[in-house]
Amino acid sequence: MIKIAKFGGSSVASAEQFKKVKKIVEADPDRRFIVVSAAGKRFPDDNKITDLLLLVNAHVQYHVDCTALLADIEQRFVDIADELGVEWPVAEKFETFASNIKKHSPEYVVSRGEWFTAHIMAEYLGIPFVDAADVIVFHHDGTVDMERTSARIKETVVRHGAFVLPGFYGATVDGAIKLFQRGGGDITGAIVARCLDANVYENWTDVSGFLSADPRIVENPRSIRRITFDEMRELSYMGASVLQEEAIFPVREANIPIQIKNTNRPDDPGTTIRETAEGSEDEHLITGIAGRKDFMAVHVKKAHMSNMVGVVSRALSIFERYGVSIEHIPTGVDSFGVVVSSADVKDTIYSIVNDIRREIKPDDISMVDKLALISVVGRNMSKRSGTSGKIFGALGDAGINIRMITQSSEEISIIVGVDNADFDRAIQVIYERFVRNEMVSTGKEGK
Ligand code: ASP
Repeated sequence: MIKIAKFGGSSVASAEQFKKVKKIVEADPDRRFIVVSAAGKRFPDDNKITDLLLLVNAHVQYHVDCTALLADIEQRFVDIADELGVEWPVAEKFETFASNIKKHSPEYVVSRGEWFTAHIMAEYLGIPFVDAADVIVFHHDGTVDMERTSARIKETVVRHGAFVLPGFYGATVDGAIKLFQRGGGDITGAIVARCLDANVYENWTDVSGFLSADPRIVENPRSIRRITFDEMRELSYMGASVLQEEAIFPVREANIPIQIKNTNRPDDPGTTIRETAEGSEDEHLITGIAGRKDFMAVHVKKAHMSNMVGVVSRALSIFERYGVSIEHIPTGVDSFGVVVSSADVKDTIYSIVNDIRREIKPDDISMVDKLALISVVGRNMSKRSGTSGKIFGALGDAGINIRMITQSSEEISIIVGVDNADFDRAIQVIYERFVRNEMVSTGKEGK
């Protein structure tokens, strides 16, 4: 069994966290391919090593002395290594790095967060260190050369049988360090999983997976045990983000499941994300609820519109002209709406409306501002009829006015628009009615 275990910044923030990682790795002999982020925050106001290194770059760029800052970073690594009894010469290596700071490229400087963290981890776990610069190969345009990367990772496996790999960076064939976007350690993990055709990609972080609702809105929400990639996309888009999109694609294409696990609570089941989740008869109806505030809907009415060609597309092209991206297009027989983020149209909405008036000549055009969208997501909804009716009923009973309704094309989510002011309450009502009640009636936690 091949498992890739990727540990995020908070999982490697201190010696104490390293000890937890060791326990996790040693608990399962299949955990031989380890990817780490740079040491992250130990407490809420702490600094991530990556942020400190970015600050170093800014100092260098403006010719400001950064000796003290470098000394702070060095101390973080030295403290971890000392407490763990790691003999790899952290201070010496760091001083070589720091004394040449002006000669390094900014990307090289930032990548050292992962590099030092992985070196310490490798010795502590007794697993060989492999430099990402030698295996993750970038094209000059910043995309990954999957063919070369795959060949090099496979070679490394043959040679070492196991490795600790720093995440977040790689190099071009001529050795120039390149970074992924922020949080890109997840991408490294996914690429390695893909190249080795892993059975599972474990992503160890500081939450026990996805929650079915925002805990700031719903008290003690159920955690999601299984979710499909499509469901996750819907929830992430609406604000419940745990993993980056870019991190998902390599594993999704190869049908490799991702398991989100909590380094601080390794026995929690976490969330498994995969392409499909075979349901059972009594499986929950709603997987999760997420939402965002501050949208605007422009409603356009035109009699007999359903018999005309191109009315909606003309309206959309007006938004496109103003560079506004469209979130939803709820349509009726002789009307349609265009939902956009309020921030995106704050300076242009009146020009857009004028253009629609001129080019489409609608019978009526109206705007609803301060709109919140709530996405109710569940792969099982399409199998059971009447869910949307029940959602609207529950909101109606609670006196919440529904301003808009739309459904995703795969029928895995129902999106309701309510006033910003009703946002929290609407989520609570839907949660209580469909998730909490279901848990009470079946006596089951989430599956
Ligand atoms: N260390 C990098 C960051 O803070 C990458 C990562 O943590 O995945 O963005």
